[in-house]
Amino acid sequence: MFENEVHPPQEDFEYICYQCKENRRKPLVRNNLVSSLESCFRCKFCKKPFSMGFEMKKKKPLYSCEKCKEVFNNGILLMHHSYAHNNEWPCWCSSCKKGFPTLQLLKIHLQSHNQDKTFQCTVCLSEFTSQQDLDRHRQIHIGNPKYSQIN
Ligand SMILES: [Zn+2]
Ligand SMILES: [Zn+2]
Ligand SMILES: [Zn+2]
Ligand SMILES: [Zn+2]
Repeated sequence: MFENEVHPPQEDFEYICYQCKENRRKPLVRNNLVSSLESCFRCKFCKKPFSMGFEMKKKKPLYSCEKCKEVFNNGILLMHHSYAHNNEWPCWCSSCKKGFPTLQLLKIHLQSHNQDKTFQCTVCLSEFTSQQDLDRHRQIHIGNPKYSQIN
């Protein structure tokens, strides 16, 4: 029977007409050709009903933050974001007291601290964030016989 070839629009799918697919250069993932005798599909983009076009699986619903309504593509990102609200970060930078959702991000952040510390005392290898601090520090080596011999 011919009717059996007509797939009724399904909840999990979105439909896009030929024209809109052409207009969108971005290739759509896994879109199956759909057709029916009547224009029973409605294009997601131009909202026009069509009889022949493509179906694609609906994207998962976005996760939105209850507090600030910011939306995220997945629950993990939303969870990370929630730490900013409750300030319960699992990882903390001991230098600047900033919180991070993952150890990985903390490590990246720590590298930026290390890059800042470009002023190093050649005597005791202490690190300083400014030349001024280093100069001030070096005073302790000058006049200290134990250290000044090394320098
Ligand atoms: Zn369309
Ligand atoms: Zn939020
Ligand atoms: Zn830090
Ligand atoms: Zn030193």
